[in-house]
Amino acid sequence: MSKGNYKIFDNMMEGIQVIDHEFRYVYLNKAAVRHGKYPLESLLGFTMMEKYPGIENTKLFTCIQSSLACQDTFTLHNTFEFPDGSLGYFMLRIEPIEGGVLIMSIDVTEQRKTEAALKRSEEKYRLIFEGMMEAFTVQEIITDDDGKVTDLLYLEANAVTENILGRRIDEIIGKKRSEIMGPLDTEAAAILQKVIDTSQPAKMERFVKGNKRWYEVSIYQLRPGQIVTLNLDITARKEAEDKLQKLNLELEERVKERTGELRVSLEREKHLNNLKSRFVSMASHEFRTPLSAILSSASLIEQYASSHDQEKREKHVARIKKSVKNLTGILSEFLSLDKLERGLTQRNNELFCILGLIREIIEDFEDEAPHQRVRFKHQGLTQIFLDKTIVRNVLINLVSNAIKYSEKDVQIISKLEQDELSITVIDNGIGIPQENQHNIFTQFFRANNVNGIEGTGLGLNIVKRYVDILNGKIQFTSKTGHGTSFKVTFPVAYALNQ
Ligand code: ADP
Repeated sequence: MSKGNYKIFDNMMEGIQVIDHEFRYVYLNKAAVRHGKYPLESLLGFTMMEKYPGIENTKLFTCIQSSLACQDTFTLHNTFEFPDGSLGYFMLRIEPIEGGVLIMSIDVTEQRKTEAALKRSEEKYRLIFEGMMEAFTVQEIITDDDGKVTDLLYLEANAVTENILGRRIDEIIGKKRSEIMGPLDTEAAAILQKVIDTSQPAKMERFVKGNKRWYEVSIYQLRPGQIVTLNLDITARKEAEDKLQKLNLELEERVKERTGELRVSLEREKHLNNLKSRFVSMASHEFRTPLSAILSSASLIEQYASSHDQEKREKHVARIKKSVKNLTGILSEFLSLDKLERGLTQRNNELFCILGLIREIIEDFEDEAPHQRVRFKHQGLTQIFLDKTIVRNVLINLVSNAIKYSEKDVQIISKLEQDELSITVIDNGIGIPQENQHNIFTQFFRANNVNGIEGTGLGLNIVKRYVDILNGKIQFTSKTGHGTSFKVTFPVAYALNQ
C-alpha cells in the first residue's frame, strides 16, 4: 500500500498507524495521533524508540518485531504509560503489510475505567455480602404449571447461610430447598406466592431446628422468578419476648394466686365474723340459764344464815359451781374453735399412757355426774406417742355428750395396736334422729330431740377438726331412743407396753 492510499484511514474511529521495518512512523491517522498524545509532525519519520524510550522492552514491541519478521498477526491488550505518566488502555491489532506493520488501536481506557469501577464496587458488595452478619441468599422460584410455588433453588448464599442450613456453601448453591430443608411448609409457600404475585416484599419469622435460632426472613423479588432473602437473627429478641411473656404469665399467676389467697382470707374473716355473731346470740341465750341459776342460788345462800341450813347452802354452792363450769365450758369451746379456725392448733406429739389419760377423764366426769358410771375396757399396748391434749379434748367432748344425752351409764372401749389407736364411746341415751345425722358435725347444729338439754352445737365440729389434725377418722352409729356410739381412730407412729 503506498503512502497516499493510507488517506482512507484518516477519519476512522480506530487509530491506524503504519510502522516500517526500522520502527519508524510512516503514517498515523487522527485517532492514532490522539491515542499517541504527540503532534503528528513530531512522530512522522521518527522511530518508536526515539519517541517512547524503553518501548523495546514491551510486549507491544516484541509483537511488532515478530510481525515484521514472521508476518504474524497479533491482537493484544496494552496498557500504555505516556511520557506525562498517565495510563492508556488500548486494544491493538498488529497486521503485517507491505513495508512494515499496520497497528490498529482502539482506546479502551474509559471502558477499562468503568470495568475497574464496576469490579471495585462488585468487590465492595461482595465484601459486604460475605461479611454480613445476616444470611443472604438469592433463590430461584420453582413453580408448577399453574404458577404455584413448589420449591426454591439456591443461586447464591453468603457464608453465614452455612450456620442456618448446616451445610457448606458449595453444598447449598445449585441445590433445591426441598433437598436441604424439606418441602416448603404452607406458611412459607403462601408468603413466597404473595411476593412473586405482587412483587411486594414480605417478612416472616422462622425457627431453625438445626441451630435452634429464630430468624426474621425478609423476602424481596430480585427479578421475575428470583427472590432475595435476608435472614436476621432475632433469637435474642425472641428470648427477651419469651422471658417477658413468661414474666407476665408468672405475674398474672401471682396476681391470681394472691387474689385467691385474699379471697380465702376474706372468706375466713367473714366466716369468723359470722361465727362470732352466732356465738354472741347463742351465748346470750345459753348464758342466761346458768347466770340466773347463779344469781338465785347466791341470793338463797344469803338467806340461809343459820347453821342448820348448811345442807341447803352446800346444794346451792354446788349449783353455782356447776353453772360456772358450764359457762367456762362454753367459753373454752369457743376459744378452741377460734384457734382451730385461725389455723393456730398444731399437733404436738409426746409419749404418754393412754390408760392413765382415759382414767383421769373418767374420774373428772364421775365427780361431776356421780349418779352415772363410766365403764372402761382397754385392749393392747399402753404407751403411745401422740398429741395428748388433742386426744383428751376429743374424749372429753364425746364422753360429756354421752353423759349429757343419756343420763345413764356410759362405756369406753379403747384398743392400742402398733400403728393405730381406737376409742369407742357408747351410751344408751336419746340417740340422734336419722334425718339429723348428716348434720351433726356442722357448727351450731343441734338435733331436733335435744329438748332443753344444754349445748352449743360446737363440740362435734371441734372434735372432727381435731381428728383431722391427727389424720384420724370419726364414725358413729345411733338410733333414737336406743343410744349412740362414736368411734375415733388415730394412726400412731409408735406404741409400746409400759
Ligand atoms: P352440743 O353442744 O349441742 O352437744 P355437739 O356439737 O357436741 O353440740 O353435738 C351436736 C349435736 O349432736 C347435739 O346437739 C346432739 O343433737 C347430737 N349429739 C351429739 N352427741 C350425741 C349423743 N351422744 N347422743 C345423742 N345426740 C348427740
